[in-house]
Amino acid sequence: MSVATATPAAFDRQGEAPDEARVEAAMRSFATDFGRTAALHLEACVHCGLCAQACHFHVTTGDAKYTPVRKLEPFRRAYQREAGPFAPLVRALGLVKPPTIADLQQWQELIYDSCNMCGRCTVICPMGIDIAELVRDARHGMYKAGLLPERLALMDRTARQWGSPATPAEDLPDILAEAAEAHGVPIPCDLPAADVLMTAAPAELGDHTQALAAAARILHRAGVKWTMHQGGYDASNIGFNNGDVELQERLTRALIDTAVKIGAHTVLLPECGHAYGAARWEAARWYGAKLPVRVVHMTEYLDELISNGRIRVNKIAATATFHDPCQIVRRGGLEAAARRVLAALGFELRELQNHGVTGYCCGGGGGVVSNQRAAPLRQKVFAMKRQQVEATGAERLVTSCGQCLITLEMGAKQTGWDKHPESLMELVAAQLAD
Ligand code: SF4
Ligand code: SF4
Repeated sequence: MSVATATPAAFDRQGEAPDEARVEAAMRSFATDFGRTAALHLEACVHCGLCAQACHFHVTTGDAKYTPVRKLEPFRRAYQREAGPFAPLVRALGLVKPPTIADLQQWQELIYDSCNMCGRCTVICPMGIDIAELVRDARHGMYKAGLLPERLALMDRTARQWGSPATPAEDLPDILAEAAEAHGVPIPCDLPAADVLMTAAPAELGDHTQALAAAARILHRAGVKWTMHQGGYDASNIGFNNGDVELQERLTRALIDTAVKIGAHTVLLPECGHAYGAARWEAARWYGAKLPVRVVHMTEYLDELISNGRIRVNKIAATATFHDPCQIVRRGGLEAAARRVLAALGFELRELQNHGVTGYCCGGGGGVVSNQRAAPLRQKVFAMKRQQVEATGAERLVTSCGQCLITLEMGAKQTGWDKHPESLMELVAAQLAD
């Protein structure tokens, strides 16, 4: 069911729970997430306002409501009432009002439509407050309250049923067989044993199977024994974005358990930023133990294959700029790896004004690209990114995240931009040398 407010922001709700039950569910979840780290962060803000200039949604709209720290307001109020050092006093004297259903409904736009959990505000904050992580904690409560943008809720329901927001596991063998035939490269599926479990992002199993073919060409050329598998194939982890921790755990376990079952030592993640966040940095938390396999992003895998001579690439005589995917570079540490691959491809790199750990998000991360009602905000962010790309004068625009590619492609199409964003992995596959 979808309900729209007149002002100032649209919101959706799922299920038929009464308002009081939704607020209570959100508050319970917030209280669960108030660990020591969250508490320290919530206490540390000195209200300097620096994070405002870090956030592309604030920078491109000039609207104060998009100031990062303001996105945490109901979460902070819940903390002061439930877990802060003076919580009993605060409650007894009514010093801080509890969030209401109206607060949570208005908040939905701030933490789902206008936050990519990109972490740019986190690196700018002088107090080291990880606003992106706190937004993610806050999303846990919103999921429990049944207050998600409906487009994300729909993907959540599908992923719970299928193990993927767009593709049932039983369809995987046919999809891979068709992609293999269309692109002329074998794509193994459900091998009983392999060294590497290759995974995909949702679009790669739909409109963008050339990415699967590119990965297949590279892995075959490197002589890797690999497979995709119905047991664990979609690494995008919609639970990570939505705040559905139960789904996040289940999807993470599917990847790790499948890798263990086939004796793989490596889970290879596709060019997807949030897959990297969920499976590389969060998996052990949900798996409940040290991971028995290595989890590696395609960018670092390409860097390794090129560095150790397992693949060689022909050079491209062109200038290029690189859009740094937030989850892979700022929150994932793969700034240098991407640039080594670009150098191996022969590109003369022309950096964006803001790049590396301070690069601006494409505007689509954290589920925003799938949230249709956030399109006007995304388009504002795209305009800034386009201006930065054009200022470099580079001939080519390259990135290493499928969600960034889709976001940039949508922006290019909507604005008639003649620049075609390109995948780092697909460039490597196209340039493979004998
Ligand atoms: S930059 Fe950090 S300390 Fe300053 S207002 Fe933002 S969250 Fe608070
Ligand atoms: S995480 Fe990114 S999108 Fe979210 S408030 Fe911070 S800078 Fe803005």
